Amino acid sequence: MYYSNGNYEAFARPLKPDGVDEKSAYLIGSGLASLAAATFLVRDAQMKGNRIHILEELLKESHLI
Ligand SMILES: Cc1cc2nc3c(=O)[nH]c(=O)nc-3n(C[C@H](O)[C@H](O)[C@H](O)COP(=O)(O)OP(=O)(O)OC[C@H]3O[C@@H](n4cnc5c(N)ncnc54)[C@H](O)[C@@H]3O)c2cc1C
Repeated sequence: MYYSNGNYEAFARPLKPDGVDEKSAYLIGSGLASLAAATFLVRDAQMKGNRIHILEELLKESHLI
């Protein structure tokens, strides 16, 4: 994953959490909050994308996903 020179990325190198490969995340709604959470799960928790599930009640073309 790309790391920029921003403040957070410059100092934080989180260790992979124990057992993260056996865990899954279920995020309710496909808004910015869920997409941000998914990004941090992938980048910082090193969770595989196929373990992150985003559940959206509305299916609209205007939605981000
Ligand atoms: C008209 C308007 C203009 C805006 N302009 C800007 C801007 O220019 N710049 C800016 O930074 N911010 C802007 N905002 C604010 C920004 O859109 C919100 O702060 C941001 O989208 C909030 O993200 P969120 O993930 O918390 O919620 P949302 O984006 O509202 O996402 C929540 C999602 O969860 C889904 N959901 C809800 N309940 C359930 C459920 N029970 N099961 C499944 N899915 C569910 C909803 O359908 C929705 O898709 C604007 C907001 C509005 C209304």
